[in-house]
Amino acid sequence: MAELQTGGACDPEAFWKDPKLIWEWYDWRRNAVKDAKPNPGHYALSELENNLQKVTLVTQNIDGLHQMAGSSGVIEMHGNLWQIMCTKCGDIEQNFDVPLRELPPKCKKCGEIGRPNVVWFGEMIEMSLIDSILKAIEECQVMLIIGTSGVVEPAASMGLVAKQANKTVIEINLDETPSAGLYDIVIREKSGEILPLLFTSNRTLS
Ligand SMILES: [Zn+2]
Repeated sequence: MAELQTGGACDPEAFWKDPKLIWEWYDWRRNAVKDAKPNPGHYALSELENNLQKVTLVTQNIDGLHQMAGSSGVIEMHGNLWQIMCTKCGDIEQNFDVPLRELPPKCKKCGEIGRPNVVWFGEMIEMSLIDSILKAIEECQVMLIIGTSGVVEPAASMGLVAKQANKTVIEINLDETPSAGLYDIVIREKSGEILPLLFTSNRTLS
């Protein structure tokens, strides 16, 4: 999957030093991905929902392509490029304007400046999200770890959490990853190519 890197690109200190500058960068970023379309891998994952009782999709991507492909209930660990969060009242606005009309954008509710609703370097991922992910692991039968380097925490540890709970873990990644030896199945293929072969078109999984 196409992945936008968030870590290191910005931090709260840099934002408050020059919010307009940071927003100019995000505005550029939004422009760069505005025409991006989901790939066959995104669509294959959304199709899983038709064949399985429950699918929870957790992503580190911030591009919103899983939702565009039809996946529901996506947990976005690192936020979403198309959301603006008010720095005062915390209101979150969906905004697809490219370019943004005003930099930095202002909150429609309180007028304070907004920030990209993404997790920046040095920021914590909301505990409620982590709780939701751990609950999904607890309830799942199979965990797929797809196209992630396995080095960015806390996502990197989720596979180990699943293994400790005796879940079947399948990794799909073109590259070697640090924890691959612990998983039940490892598939070294491109997710955009292998996922449609595994999951698409009226195939019922059992
Ligand atoms: Zn506000």
